Amino acid sequence: MMLLKGKTGLILGVANRRSLAWAAATAVAREGARLALSCRSERIEENVRELARQLDRPLILRCDVTQDADLDRMPETLRRSFGTLDFVIHAVAFAQREDLAGRFRDTTRAGYHLAQDVSSYSLTAVARRVAPLMEGRDGSIVTLTYLGGQRVVPHYNVMGVAKAALDMSVRYLAADLGPEHIRVNAISAGPVRTLAASGIRGLSRLLSFHRAYAPLRRNTALEDIGNAALFLVSHLSRGITGEVIHVDNGFHILGLAGLDPEG
Ligand code: NAP
Repeated sequence: MMLLKGKTGLILGVANRRSLAWAAATAVAREGARLALSCRSERIEENVRELARQLDRPLILRCDVTQDADLDRMPETLRRSFGTLDFVIHAVAFAQREDLAGRFRDTTRAGYHLAQDVSSYSLTAVARRVAPLMEGRDGSIVTLTYLGGQRVVPHYNVMGVAKAALDMSVRYLAADLGPEHIRVNAISAGPVRTLAASGIRGLSRLLSFHRAYAPLRRNTALEDIGNAALFLVSHLSRGITGEVIHVDNGFHILGLAGLDPEG
């Protein structure tokens, strides 16, 4: 029995086959979900259409989450194609490259606003628009966050502040939408080499540090994220909302890494 047979979902943030959104898309499609994939630009849309051939004819939408007109169009398109919606996976973030290196204090007002707008506010903007489509469906909304929103991670800077706002948005939205039986959760993913992550200075060192010190001594795999997203949009997680689930091989439990316990 497939977990998501008869369910429909919207996934934002597929850029290529390394995207966490694509890992989620393949996991939920495997369990029978019908999908709409949304991407920002025409350039990326071609890529996404090519990838989408591996799925069962998903709907492809264009939506720049900073544009209200794009966001406003989305629910109507989804309603026409699907009627209702069961889940959303939000895997969208952006900050200027110069704000993901150097000193946090040098963040400009424009860079700060941009990171917040795309990476944090967009979750609320999307949730508001899709909630009516989830009426009576026990809906689930999942976003992607990172430990850098809870603790200081070198170079993560303005994105860490945006992720902190995103994590808190998850809790407020969960409280807001809970009475409508819509759950809202986040996956805090360990570092994975994706297009967005490549913008963070020192990514290679971060990945080897995780591999060396995470309790499970491995890096986060794309399938780990896909399967966690599948769990969160399925009825198996029915009692979970407002939660940030770490899928990072246990890295977040460490207070201090790198000391030899025998030493
Ligand atoms: P990715 O493949 O580069 O995905 C990021 C997506 O965000 C891209 O599809 C990008 O579209 C989209 N995006 C950026 N600005 C947008 C806008 N204005 N409107 C609509 N879409 C926009 O990288 P990823 O690592 O999978 O990122 C997905 C999520 O996972 C992000 O929230 C990220 O912070 C989070 N995350 C990643 C890691 C990691 O190590 N990779 C760890 C924890 C959390 P374009 O390509 O067209 O710009």
